[in-house]
Amino acid sequence: MNFPQHTWLLALLLATQTAAAQPVSLPGYDPAAAEAQRALEARFDTALKEADYRGWLKQWSSGPNHVGSPHNLANARDLEARLRSFGWETRIEQFEVLWPSPKTSRLELLGAKPYLARLKEPPLPGDSTSSQTEGVLPPYVIYGGDGDVTADLVYVNYGIAEDYEALARNGVDVRGKIVIARYGKGWRGLKPRLAQEHGAIGAIIYSDPRDDGYFQDLPYPDGPARNQWSVQRGSVANFALYPGDPLTPGVGATAGAKRLKLEQAGSVLKIPTLPISWGDAQPLLAALRGPVAPEDWRGALPITYRIGGDGSARVHLKVEADWGSQTLYNVIATLRGSDYPEQWVIRGNHRDGWVFGAADPLSGTTALLAEAKAIGELARQGQRPRRTLVYASWDGEEAGLLGSTEWAEQHADELRRKAVLYVNTDGNGRGFLNAGGSHALQRLINGVAADLRDPDSGVSVLERQRARARIDALAPAAKPAQKDVAKKLAAGGDVPLKALGSGSDYSPFLQHLGLATLDLGYGGQGGSSGVYHSLYDSYDYFARFVDPDFSYLPLLSQTVGRTVLRVANAPVLPQRFGDFADADAVAGYAQEIKQQADADRESARNQDELLAAGAYPAVSNPNRPLLAPVAKPAVPVIDFAPLDQAIARLQASAKRYDEALVAHGAGLSGDVRDKLNTSLQRIDQTLLVQTGLPGRPWYRNLIYAPGLATGYEVKTLPGIREALEDRRWDDLRRYIGQTATVLDAYREAIDRNTTLIEPG
Ligand SMILES: [Zn+2]
Repeated sequence: MNFPQHTWLLALLLATQTAAAQPVSLPGYDPAAAEAQRALEARFDTALKEADYRGWLKQWSSGPNHVGSPHNLANARDLEARLRSFGWETRIEQFEVLWPSPKTSRLELLGAKPYLARLKEPPLPGDSTSSQTEGVLPPYVIYGGDGDVTADLVYVNYGIAEDYEALARNGVDVRGKIVIARYGKGWRGLKPRLAQEHGAIGAIIYSDPRDDGYFQDLPYPDGPARNQWSVQRGSVANFALYPGDPLTPGVGATAGAKRLKLEQAGSVLKIPTLPISWGDAQPLLAALRGPVAPEDWRGALPITYRIGGDGSARVHLKVEADWGSQTLYNVIATLRGSDYPEQWVIRGNHRDGWVFGAADPLSGTTALLAEAKAIGELARQGQRPRRTLVYASWDGEEAGLLGSTEWAEQHADELRRKAVLYVNTDGNGRGFLNAGGSHALQRLINGVAADLRDPDSGVSVLERQRARARIDALAPAAKPAQKDVAKKLAAGGDVPLKALGSGSDYSPFLQHLGLATLDLGYGGQGGSSGVYHSLYDSYDYFARFVDPDFSYLPLLSQTVGRTVLRVANAPVLPQRFGDFADADAVAGYAQEIKQQADADRESARNQDELLAAGAYPAVSNPNRPLLAPVAKPAVPVIDFAPLDQAIARLQASAKRYDEALVAHGAGLSGDVRDKLNTSLQRIDQTLLVQTGLPGRPWYRNLIYAPGLATGYEVKTLPGIREALEDRRWDDLRRYIGQTATVLDAYREAIDRNTTLIEPG
């Protein structure tokens, strides 16, 4: 250790001591209430026992845990019994959902060097559960089509939109063909969907060693990376249209619910799709001829990557499922609040996995149960939370957020009236806190992160986040947005929350019901991507490569426990509206979109000029010829003034509220506080529009949505942003107006609250 580092540690130590003497204030609390809350949290921490996490994870991940498996149901019953023994009221809520189970999977390369794909993950030494075969789901993707097709193979890289533009320039068409795409970049279901839209009749998705295999690290069991025969299962349902049971959009899938016919279910894909390992993909890819793949399309297999589509590789793909139904079991546990039983803080994690699911999702489930145990003990000792807690173990997340979506739809009215917050977690790793959600809760989460110690570094969770963001912003490849954040952090600003798209159970609460929502988890230091959705996401893997000393699971409990308890006990609910209105969120998103419109206009104009001047043939390489691209539609000048004005008003109102709460929050009468809390509880619902987003009415939130063309990835101000991206000018104008209207409604609610607080 050198001297400067020593000084730095000393400075850090002093800073930590100062922080301990003068902790960051808790939003919504006066100093006395904050002190009592922190004492409660210290008692919460002492109830977290490392042995619990290990024992539960080992037990729950000892058998296959997909929807409908006996072991998943046994885990539901085990969770219910434990929650009840911790003093919670419990029930299991069931739903009946469409559930295709794999029946036939066959993939073969025809021709001179035939190859029959294995489609199997073998047992591995040192991975004790991998020798189980009974009841294990074979590699498949759920909600793909049935089919038996034979056709030419085409390699489409990640199979996202820009890859099809490159294919067209290479003169390759996928109509009537079978595509092979690698996992990564876009969401899984997008790959077969885009293939289907471009006329392909079948799709194969494989894991290239470049993305999560030997190019990254030693393959499992020698190291954490994906091995030759490991396959990523998953859902290809189009949940960007609507998540949940494909047959019951918008309503709970109870036994008597009205159901669509399968042909009407817009979220179900039509073409047969199969996920495979790189071991099975290599012979297929090696057989392709045709154009050499562009440089950034090449993976890490020892072959020349080619596009094919010229008759060089014919494959036979057969996929069939039993299109039956299954019962979902959501475990719901309630701890009634002492003062405000009709205000609910909800916290969930899913329980179903593709196979054993040790990391995804059971690691997060251990954190959930440990919190419930600790909070139950506090309640028994007379320290019951003031608001009601609802803890949920969701079933069927992997297939498309089924359990959480059906529950949210079934209880929509009650949730609109009572829910204060939904907090989500999923599989947990080691590393940095990833926090996303409703931006008015940014201060809350920064406060939680400031109070927790990171096990690896010894600094606070917040200090570690801040250090990483500032260091990353110094890298040559850092984006301007990263540099902006770093500058704000250097000046003492908060770590921004991420905006949420989709990919876990928060979506129905945030984007359908408009509830304040958070998604929390640790990761980024190696971990589980090498076994993601495979047979090998096991206890043995978790204990070797994800979190060997089980220190980040108690940390997750501490993080979520504090978040839940701070909101449940807050004298005034902890929103700080400036964080939502300003550059970290809404104002920043609007700025991005306007810059995008300018950049798109410029590039469409430039491309037009180049096309007209014959510039593309002029640079074409005769050895690897490329066709000219299709002209892009011109981008008109767009009037963003209604949006800009609404945001400016919102920023002014948010500032006034935030300042009024700091100045007068401690002295409010009980009556005023109650009125204020009732308003704050529902305020996020003003951000919804009842008719939803174009073509997808289930998604009603005009601030956050998953991208219709990107899947998991968020589109902020989605009505406006996607209209610009898709060149729908009428929608663009309409959603500028609608987004301004919801921001005005939100701002008016803030103003009414400010009037309540400011002394008359
Ligand atoms: Zn998960």
